Amino acid sequence: MPEWHSLKAYNSLSLDAKAQQLRFLSNPNDIDVWLDEASNDNLPILLLGGGSNVVFTQNFAGSVGIVTLPGIEHVSSDDAYHYIAAGAGANWHELVEWTLANNFTGLENLSLIPGSAGAAPMQNIGAYGVELAQRFEALEAIELATGRARRFTCSECRFAYRDSRFKQEPDRWLITRITLKLPKQWRPALDYASLREALPSSHPDAQEIYNAVCRVRKSKLPDPKTTPNVGSFFKNPMVSHDQMERLKNAHPELPFWPTDTGYKLSAGWLIEQCGWKGKRRGSTGVHDRHALVLVNHGGATGAEVWRLALDIQDSVQQRYGITLEPEPRII
Ligand code: NAP
Repeated sequence: MPEWHSLKAYNSLSLDAKAQQLRFLSNPNDIDVWLDEASNDNLPILLLGGGSNVVFTQNFAGSVGIVTLPGIEHVSSDDAYHYIAAGAGANWHELVEWTLANNFTGLENLSLIPGSAGAAPMQNIGAYGVELAQRFEALEAIELATGRARRFTCSECRFAYRDSRFKQEPDRWLITRITLKLPKQWRPALDYASLREALPSSHPDAQEIYNAVCRVRKSKLPDPKTTPNVGSFFKNPMVSHDQMERLKNAHPELPFWPTDTGYKLSAGWLIEQCGWKGKRRGSTGVHDRHALVLVNHGGATGAEVWRLALDIQDSVQQRYGITLEPEPRII
């Protein structure tokens, strides 16, 4: 039997899961060949971008396609926006850096988010009060079952808080290229206190915001290269007005933010209150500077990480009656 392929280098938790087949997709022809091959061999398929939002709890008996479609370009401008396109395999942070180096502003709050440009729409990445949907024009994708290409406008992507139609329909679409629209009339997004406190003045330029976001993230979040992780392991829970009233009465110290439909809570805060911050269990654990980040201290399996996540979920449920929902995809 041919040897299976380790996925360790292709997921940011550094989990040594194996796949039956591994293919790199760097141009449209690679995608056609990969889909034909998997179909002929009757293999299930799985797509990976930067591997920064996936937890392998077991091996994958199928073919993994790693999307490496390259390229970043300024495609056009109109009165209000510059339109920037990127191949799905472009590294997200390098895309942010490229825009700033070319004087296109608007992505600075989203600096240092791990992963690829093609994965960004999956969960509508967001940080420090800006989310992808606000800077998004359209994307191109291939329907895996038919090989048909399709363009999705921003509204067709059904973006929501860390969510999209692509997250809701896993394994249906391969995103090949995204187009962003960056405003010509730039205004800094400074709603987050944690960002404001890190800035040199109350009127920063985009480069200063970029510098501050990078500095804060580096100080709080572990670098996946040295301490493997998938960033936030849980989404921030959303609760209704009624639930919020009950929670405020029982836990007056609980932080919350109003949203269009109710309130958002901080998953990290809830986990920290349950005593998990910095806890270590075998080769896995909770990061000591950010309770939302589960880490692999070396040699952890996905099953161990997932067991820890379930125990964290359980203790938040017991103490606050809130169910935390994982942010990464669990395989
Ligand atoms: P933080 O700024 O102290 O934020 C803590 C939590 O409070 C976050 O979950 C954030 O919600 C919420 N929050 C703070 N100020 C808010 C405001 N003015 N309005 C609404 N919500 C507010 O520090 P942090 O935990 O290091 O997060 C910083 C940013 O980076 C956040 O936006 C976070 O989502 C993002 N981040 C994302 C990941 C990831 O893997 N997805 C990992 C680390 C950090 P939101 O999370 O909704 O913004």
